[in-house]
Amino acid sequence: MPLPTPPAVEPGPVVALMYHALHTGAVPDGQDPHYTLAVDEFDEQMREVAAAGGGSSAAALLDGTSQARVLVTFDDGHASNHALALPLLSRHGITADFFINPATVGTPGFLNWRQLREMADAGMSIQSHGYDHVYLTQLDAHRLRQTLTAAREEIEQRIGTPVTLLAPPGGRMPKDLLPIARECGYTHVLSSEPGVLAAADGATGPLPRMAMTAATRHVTFQRWIRRDPVAIGHERLRYRGLALAKRMLGDTGYERLRAGALGVLGRRA
Ligand SMILES: [Zn+2]
Repeated sequence: MPLPTPPAVEPGPVVALMYHALHTGAVPDGQDPHYTLAVDEFDEQMREVAAAGGGSSAAALLDGTSQARVLVTFDDGHASNHALALPLLSRHGITADFFINPATVGTPGFLNWRQLREMADAGMSIQSHGYDHVYLTQLDAHRLRQTLTAAREEIEQRIGTPVTLLAPPGGRMPKDLLPIARECGYTHVLSSEPGVLAAADGATGPLPRMAMTAATRHVTFQRWIRRDPVAIGHERLRYRGLALAKRMLGDTGYERLRAGALGVLGRRA
């Protein structure tokens, strides 16, 4: 059944979408099904973003080379970013930021440096997700500076393009992350908290992103790319409820609860 085409994107705030991995039928072993979307669904989403005015990386918006109202980002550097996302992004004329961990590059299931360079050559922005996906809230200030600097320097050296954006692993943001990230050479931090960017070029706080999961309904995605304030506000409320649960249960308790809930509900087709 053909999906309805959303109305054109009106001027106004910018929305950033946060993806992780894609699959072609079955979610590969070791990959979180909640954060893995079917490639056909992603193709349709990018078709709609392109039809509604286009999409780009946050890097291109922030350096003034794009006026797109929808930003596309990927976290974790999964192998499917190159195999499945790259060809579709290129086909739809959309660029994206890929937030990677140098420590996992080239390990099973993840991108290698050659693939990342190919993605950069195709106009994609390769940025920092920390060095090794350890939550930044678990590090003291000294280790935090070390991991942020090491990640930026290694990606810049391997890819040859500037690393200016940081997306903290798990969206966990220690107090004073912004000034410390700036000290370590980053201009912006992208969070995992939902919302819209009101004035992206002048933004100084963490830039919000909308998490795209296997449970995100197509109609919800359509409202998000139109920056519908009701749909965005609804997701903010939901996120705050989850954030409260995380604070009460701690990271380990929360992950256990989420794994249990996914087991009960099963994988969405
Ligand atoms: Zn991550």
